[in-house]
Amino acid sequence: MKPPVFDYLAPRSVAEAAELLRAHDGEAKVLAGGQSLMPLLAMRLARPSLLVDLGRIPELDYVREDGGVLAIGAMTTKTTIERSPLVRERQPLFHEATRLIGHPQIRNRGTVGGSMAQADPAAEYPAAAIALGATMRTARPEGERSIESANFFLSALTTALGPGEILTEVRIPFLPRGTGWSVLEFSRRHGDFAIAGTVVTLSIEAGRISSARIALFGVAATPLRVTSGEDALVGERPGQAAFETAAQKARMATEEPLSDLHASGEYRRHLAGALVGQALAEAAARARGTL
Ligand SMILES: Cc1cc2nc3c(=O)[nH]c(=O)nc-3n(C[C@H](O)[C@H](O)[C@H](O)COP(=O)(O)OP(=O)(O)OC[C@H]3O[C@@H](n4cnc5c(N)ncnc54)[C@H](O)[C@@H]3O)c2cc1C
Repeated sequence: MKPPVFDYLAPRSVAEAAELLRAHDGEAKVLAGGQSLMPLLAMRLARPSLLVDLGRIPELDYVREDGGVLAIGAMTTKTTIERSPLVRERQPLFHEATRLIGHPQIRNRGTVGGSMAQADPAAEYPAAAIALGATMRTARPEGERSIESANFFLSALTTALGPGEILTEVRIPFLPRGTGWSVLEFSRRHGDFAIAGTVVTLSIEAGRISSARIALFGVAATPLRVTSGEDALVGERPGQAAFETAAQKARMATEEPLSDLHASGEYRRHLAGALVGQALAEAAARARGTL
């Protein structure tokens, strides 16, 4: 199918884009890499009368350290992130999450802002964002604001972005030195969206787990943080017993797992537990410096 007729504008600044979106309130849509939006247009599931392309706004394309966090402009492609030495060395978890997204062709065009704004339940970046405590910076006619990732993903394909609000930057705290991490997912074929996946971090002090973060993706409408599993780990010795307890909490946290033609809810719940147990073991090995 072909998309319905739409107008196309390519502003050169965020201010200009925000003004265009305000002037076409409710009728315009932002275009980033187009990897999710173009298929939706072609299937006529989205029918904006105007596309506001952010692709000609250089101020949205960067990866840098800023105030002790990793700051990534919303229009930065996944390939740029994948190739960034800063991301690979200082936030290897995000580097690994990037490598798991689709195929090189998709990463060449798809942007970090597009993935966050699209909020696909099976996407890697939203889960990485909540595991790492990322913050979303936005621009709207009333001014800028910051949204904690914990408050950003509201439901499947729905975020806290208001009408005409532009996601401008994703801010990701660096992991403290010595913190282990893991990103694992299960998909039918390499490059497919995950059926289920997990992002974990783990710190060990004096032989005991001092902090942990567990996020799941692909199992619920939004990325799911498993705080019960995190709490169960703190103070325990890193090992099979503690990891299995956390894995069980992850299974229980997926109360109403997604069920579709790719996998049943029960299978997704099973995967959530299996992946969390495996990821925690991997993160512990990284924390000890043995991986
Ligand atoms: C074959 C295939 C496989 C894929 N596999 C994966 C995968 O394994 N994992 C994964 O996570 N993704 C996957 N994707 C999706 C891909 O990562 C997309 O790049 C991403 O979902 C959207 O990013 P985009 O830059 O292309 O955004 P677009 O498609 O241009 O936009 C997506 C949505 O976000 C809005 N938007 C975009 N940028 C902004 C912004 N800055 N501010 C406000 N709103 C904005 C748009 O209006 C639109 O509603 C796959 C896509 C394809 C086609």
